[in-house]
Amino acid sequence: MAVITTESVRGEVRAWLAESWDPDLTVGEWWDRLMRSGYGAPTFLEEDYGKGYNRALANVVNEELASAGVVGPPAGLGYLLAAPTIVAHATREQKDLWLPRIISGQDAWCQLFSEPGAGSDLAGLQCKAERDGDEWVITGQKVWTSTAQLCNMGMLIARTDPDAPKHAGISYFAFDMDQPAVEIRPLREMTGRAMFNEVFLDGARVPDWNLIGGLNNGWAVANTTLAAERAGLGSGGSGAAGSAFPGPLSNQLGERVGNTVGQVRTGGTGGGGGGMAQHLIKLARDNGTIDDPIVRQGISKLWSLQQIGKYSALRMKGGGASAGAPNIAKLMMSDMLRLHREVATQVLGPDVAIMGRDAKTGGLVQKAILFSPGPSIYGGTDQVQRNIIGERALGLPKEPDPNKGAPFKDIPRNA
Ligand SMILES: Cc1cc2nc3c(=O)[nH]c(=O)nc-3n(C[C@H](O)[C@H](O)[C@H](O)COP(=O)(O)OP(=O)(O)OC[C@H]3O[C@@H](n4cnc5c(N)ncnc54)[C@H](O)[C@@H]3O)c2cc1C
Repeated sequence: MAVITTESVRGEVRAWLAESWDPDLTVGEWWDRLMRSGYGAPTFLEEDYGKGYNRALANVVNEELASAGVVGPPAGLGYLLAAPTIVAHATREQKDLWLPRIISGQDAWCQLFSEPGAGSDLAGLQCKAERDGDEWVITGQKVWTSTAQLCNMGMLIARTDPDAPKHAGISYFAFDMDQPAVEIRPLREMTGRAMFNEVFLDGARVPDWNLIGGLNNGWAVANTTLAAERAGLGSGGSGAAGSAFPGPLSNQLGERVGNTVGQVRTGGTGGGGGGMAQHLIKLARDNGTIDDPIVRQGISKLWSLQQIGKYSALRMKGGGASAGAPNIAKLMMSDMLRLHREVATQVLGPDVAIMGRDAKTGGLVQKAILFSPGPSIYGGTDQVQRNIIGERALGLPKEPDPNKGAPFKDIPRNA
């Protein structure tokens, strides 16, 4: 059997791209080709629509997609979070239904985790799922659901056993968003956009078949999603030359794929921060602040953090990192965004306060600054990451929990 090396993979991807990339395809047709080749999700096993590559080989695929200037796999949380969760916990039949649809961009998924009373204390969620024959009936409210208005599927966690202790009575469902019992209300952010939403579920239905990872095992499944979120945030994305938002509601599947080269359509949630320092270097050169020693130091520090983040992510995804690595990666991301905000302000001076069409430099930096508090909150706040590092990596005592082991229904909570 031929030995797989980075060079053999590089050659194969180049040959495949030369044959398969065509800017005149639609986005949907291109993603379908990418999915069928396995290069759309190269770290997944072949039976899971990938190539079975380790992280180093997968990075070669990403590098080749980037240098060929082609559009990468779908943006959004289906690819980033739902797919690795399905790979880890779903049945063969579930994988065969959902994975190809996610990797080829047919479906867009949102994350129905947080509730008004359950953010950091996610296991305190109250949204309930009650069995009715072969279906579950869902009643409750979710909040901060990014891109819900663009998604036809949801990763839903709900309480299936209120008599069990709080972590033990939760189940994880693949949830169809397109039903009358689902109401989505957008929330306006300080960026000016309404990326996230309140989602009201009033007797919504989900087949028992859509339960992922077994009844009342949702906490373990949700933790796979959260680990993928933390690792993904610190890693800087695929590096491909553009992307598009998947699913039937974004209207991008029918677009000419060549037109989406250069677009970054994360829906506002992803963003590993690659390229932040490079963009500031260009702006500082253009306006002369590159000679300012404080600006130079700031940019160097930002660039160094970016490199450390990149190499840590490589080590982590290659399996060579210590416990707590995804949490450290996520904290680094928050630090980078804060530093970027500071240095960008020094580079742009008063211009940093001008948004939209009046912004002399296009306004990208301003948008990033307004979004910069977000990543230190979602996927678990900075404080929560530090708690996890303390407990799981450093072996510090756990936070006291006077209700440990008590049935969820007996734990005092806000109405
Ligand atoms: C941009 C953005 C996008 C998001 N997208 C989604 C999404 O798609 N789906 C989804 O389900 N959720 C999403 N969220 C929600 C996010 O996961 C929650 O906001 C987050 O988990 C914090 O919960 P909370 O807002 O209820 O704050 P709280 O949990 O009430 O926390 C308030 C403050 O208390 C601190 N705190 C709480 N508990 C502890 C503790 N034990 N130790 C130390 N400090 C503590 C927190 O760090 C924070 O500073 C998103 C949030 C943002 C900002």
